[in-house]
Amino acid sequence: MDALNMTKVVLHSAITCPECGHVKEETMPTDSCQWFYECERCRSVLRPLAGDCCVFCSYGTVKCPPIQTSASGCCSR
Ligand SMILES: [Zn+2]
Repeated sequence: MDALNMTKVVLHSAITCPECGHVKEETMPTDSCQWFYECERCRSVLRPLAGDCCVFCSYGTVKCPPIQTSASGCCSR
């Protein structure tokens, strides 16, 4: 029984490291945003770009789940 019966939320996003170009597919948390992400190749710690709520929105192929489920915005606002 999942109270958050969300539909069509994509939980997989491929993050591209802006430092070395390494692409890694990650699973996003459904209930929170991820502010920090460490590239497994170059060890750069990525942070969201200005205006973005999380690293998936800035560097991933898919926006984060809170943005997908609510048109109004994300948990950080
Ligand atoms: Zn990297």
